[in-house]
Amino acid sequence: MEFSSKLLENAVYEMSQLPGIGKRTALRLVLHLLRQPKNQTAQLVNALETLREDIKFCSNCHSISDTEICDICSNPARNKNIICVVEDIRDVMAIESTGQYRGLYHVLGGKISPLDGIGPQELTINSLVEKVKSGKVEELIFALSATMEGDTTNFYIYKQLEGIEVKTSTIARGIGVNDELEYADEVTLGRSILNRIPFENALKSS
Ligand SMILES: [Zn+2]
Repeated sequence: MEFSSKLLENAVYEMSQLPGIGKRTALRLVLHLLRQPKNQTAQLVNALETLREDIKFCSNCHSISDTEICDICSNPARNKNIICVVEDIRDVMAIESTGQYRGLYHVLGGKISPLDGIGPQELTINSLVEKVKSGKVEELIFALSATMEGDTTNFYIYKQLEGIEVKTSTIARGIGVNDELEYADEVTLGRSILNRIPFENALKSS
């Protein structure tokens, strides 16, 4: 792509660093911004800057939060004895939108994936194990995607909890339908949380 303006080229380059945005789309977006009033761009830049400056990770569940303890963890109406283990905040949002779950979450920050260089230490697994060891957790619900990485992660955590008194279950999901939690429709996802199955049974069937 030949640019007659270095300023335009720079902006297009930065925009094209975003996932799923090729050079052509980046150019379209940048030209769109140029046609908008200046303050529109300022608001966008400001929103992103404040996000990066002020965002926190909940010290209890590790989800993205505006405060030290997130709204879910600090809500007295939530059942603190049940913890749903998820990969990231998108899963929290998907499960919350079902309105079927009243427990807390634990956000791992990814799945174990040796090929991508993600081992247990890169995730918040230790913090989860410590939480369970503290004795206040009655049930852990594994809600990771039904992929090899998801299964590996579930199993790793399950092994770490050996000898600790805690019920483990996994959400029931249709096979091969919605691998990624965030794409599961609300009714299906809500039902699969209510109809969760003991983790041991899931191990036997696979
Ligand atoms: Zn939290």
